[in-house]
Amino acid sequence: MEIALRGIGVSPGIAIGPVLPFDVHTFEIPKYRISDSAEELQRLDTAVAGVRCDLERLHQQTADSLGKDHADIFKVHLMLLDDVTIREDIESRLSQEGFNIEYLLDDLLTTYAKTMRTVSDARFRERTNDLLDVGKRILGKLLNTELASLEKIEHPSVVVAYDLSPSETANIDVKNALGIATDIGGPTSHTAILARALEIPAVVGLRYACAHVKPGDMAIIDGTNGYVFIRPDASTLAEFTEQKGKVERKRRELLEAEEAVVCKTLDGYEFPLMANIELPVEVTHSLKVRVQGVGLYRTEYLFLNRTNLPSEQEQFQAYAQVAAVLKPRPVTLRTLDIGGDKLVSHLQLTVETNPQLGWRAIRFCLERPDIFKAQLRAMFRASVYGNVQIMFPLISGLEEMRQVKHVVDEVRADLARRGVAFDQGVKIGTMIEVPSAVVISDLLAKECDFFSIGTNDLIQYSLAVDRVNEKIAHMYEPAHPAILRMIQKTVKSAKAAGIPCSLCGEMAGDPLFTELLLGLGVDSLSMSAVAIPAVHAEIANTRMSSARAFARNVLAAKTATDVRGLLQTRFQRKGALERYLSQLKQSRHEQGE
Ligand code: PEP
Ligand code: MG
Repeated sequence: MEIALRGIGVSPGIAIGPVLPFDVHTFEIPKYRISDSAEELQRLDTAVAGVRCDLERLHQQTADSLGKDHADIFKVHLMLLDDVTIREDIESRLSQEGFNIEYLLDDLLTTYAKTMRTVSDARFRERTNDLLDVGKRILGKLLNTELASLEKIEHPSVVVAYDLSPSETANIDVKNALGIATDIGGPTSHTAILARALEIPAVVGLRYACAHVKPGDMAIIDGTNGYVFIRPDASTLAEFTEQKGKVERKRRELLEAEEAVVCKTLDGYEFPLMANIELPVEVTHSLKVRVQGVGLYRTEYLFLNRTNLPSEQEQFQAYAQVAAVLKPRPVTLRTLDIGGDKLVSHLQLTVETNPQLGWRAIRFCLERPDIFKAQLRAMFRASVYGNVQIMFPLISGLEEMRQVKHVVDEVRADLARRGVAFDQGVKIGTMIEVPSAVVISDLLAKECDFFSIGTNDLIQYSLAVDRVNEKIAHMYEPAHPAILRMIQKTVKSAKAAGIPCSLCGEMAGDPLFTELLLGLGVDSLSMSAVAIPAVHAEIANTRMSSARAFARNVLAAKTATDVRGLLQTRFQRKGALERYLSQLKQSRHEQGE
């Protein structure tokens, strides 16, 4: 019987294929008494040296395939290899208990894993996860067992796992890993980021996927909407196969294009599609021909997984590289958005009870002008190389925005005084992702050059639903009428002030919402690269005039269920219309017309 599970869609797209359950806890750990502790410690040292070689190789391979920033995770792992506290723990237990080293190490890792599951501090969890990853590698060496790996997958498969470590994801066999489903994890976990960079559809936080699958079971992963179907019935399979085919056709069309492809509605209205990127390496040829610019460059990924801050020069190079490649199209650089669930351990962010409501994003930057100004200088310097815009996250009030602008003015004046070149016309924008910003959007619109609605956070703050908590993922609802009204209000404020309003949350990449967002008057949509073909296809199948009327209808709906009902009916009807038109075209073609 079909089983449908809902999790958090972290890398969009549809994957259909047989399940490959990936169980990493497959070691048989022997337990025996030893007589020579020195010999045991020597075995540990040899295993650690072997792991060091592997990690150095993985670091190089990942740097070559995905770029330096994704590879940095292995540098962190290399540092953890030298973690003295673990070695001290093992040494003392070895002398007290006298058991073999693999038993002691496994026992220690099991204790760490148990603690990790009960602790809510994301920073602690992130570090423990890395430690477990490294620990498993050492165990593999000690036992002379090949570590279960996804580097070579025999047949095209959908990988289902309790969790995947960053190194398992970074080295996944991209050709045969059709999709990823995991029981735990959130949208900003490394696995999620890597899956997006590798363009593999992925759903995390499913809780029970592992418990339901057997090897070879058929599964569907809908990474856009966060659904996984195990042993789908014939109608589900047919529906998703059709959707997948549509997206792939569009994707091939876009990939084959040499020139930038303009996205137009059926009635000829040009609608800009932009990309959300985390790293410069994501700006590939296929991305360049698919987008009219970068609507959100999440610069914080330059700061994650490392033990020091990126220098102004390093930041400048990253920003200038993206700006130059996309010139003259705009590249929207968002200033550092750390805190919340994106933690940079070396910046000593204190443990907070409510990190999502805490010292994060612009709040952090305003109190660390050294970091903030260095980033702004790098951004302004990069503006000479292309069309750079700068955007600020988590703005919640007017004073805050004015404070930001004051810092921007100081940075501009400083650069001018030192004769450093920058574009005087760089546009300054505000992310609208806090409910208070929506309420005063008329006032904020007068203080900046553009808006970008960040629905990921706006939904979490408006509906009071933590965006990374899988237990309440079902309540995280973009179709809630409150969210639609907030988008409408923000767009109206932007229009009244004569500034453009983009939308860059995950909602932008879900074709179910495309016509509604067009109808609400959003000026552009920015999304992960993988979502672009499906949204492009949807826009090409939409009339601007009917989108406006449709949006009015949807806004009148009173509940999220009603809204979803309207969206789904519309989506299916348009699908049917498209099928009818293509059949008509086909039959005309056959009749020689
Ligand atoms: C958002 O909040 O919608 C957004 C685009 O930013 P992030 O997902 O990086 O918080
Ligand atoms: Mg946000």
